[in-house]
Amino acid sequence: MALNYYGKPLLVTDSGGKDSAVCRELVKRSGVPYEMIHNLTTADAPQTVYYVRERFRVAETAGISCMIQYPYYKGKRVSMWSLIPQKQIPPTRLARYCCEVLKEGSGKGRFITTGVRWAESRKRKGRGIYEAFSSSVKRKMILNNDNDDKRMLFEACQMKSKHICNPIIDWSDRDVWEYIRAEKIPVNPLYEMGFHRVGCIGCPMAGKQRYREFALFPTYERAYKRAFENMLLVRKLAGKSEVGGKWKDAESVFRWWMEDDNMPGQYGLLLDEESNELYY
Ligand code: SF4
Repeated sequence: MALNYYGKPLLVTDSGGKDSAVCRELVKRSGVPYEMIHNLTTADAPQTVYYVRERFRVAETAGISCMIQYPYYKGKRVSMWSLIPQKQIPPTRLARYCCEVLKEGSGKGRFITTGVRWAESRKRKGRGIYEAFSSSVKRKMILNNDNDDKRMLFEACQMKSKHICNPIIDWSDRDVWEYIRAEKIPVNPLYEMGFHRVGCIGCPMAGKQRYREFALFPTYERAYKRAFENMLLVRKLAGKSEVGGKWKDAESVFRWWMEDDNMPGQYGLLLDEESNELYY
């Protein structure tokens, strides 16, 4: 289908996570012509960057073409840290502009695969095989890596003129790990460090898990705070006010962003229900 529709091989998107690792292996074993691409988010852990680099080196040795896609915004190279001041708000669960800019730059005019799965969706319904994304812009805002319950095995996106195949859409977590162990597929070392999901450090979708991420990667916390500081300067120049009196400085923006209601200097305890770990 990739060759018929676009005259180019299938493009396997590799985020550096376990689902991508399985897709990579499945496509390799299927024998179809393919290439691989990784979108450099600039906020991934060093382990992810080195892991992808190594997997791509191995694939290239086997003759597979691999690309690292650098993010651009308004025609210029951008990073998470320069994007936040430009957007003038931190990325949140509801305002995930970063994914669109940092992760969605590739695949235009291509047939791609992703590792999205229904098991990662909170609601699991609307299962099916093929979906053509609506031509209505309102209904089309779904991102490549959204684990939405409405995702399908095959999808077509008119806006970005791409087709998407989600080969492990109906795999459970157990299926994924059993396949990885049975086939001895190398995975991102972050899993050995106790990570359940691999994504940008500080991703708002990770909720309270971010406390653990920042404890392990303190330079990222400093980078977010610097970005928030620059964001406040840009907002000031644009004549924008503080949000509900909560964005006084980078530190207060950071606490608001972490959904931390503690007073400065006060410690709080919380339980992450997913990992059953206690953070303070
Ligand atoms: S994974 Fe999270 S932090 Fe990274 S680009 Fe997507 S929404 Fe933003």
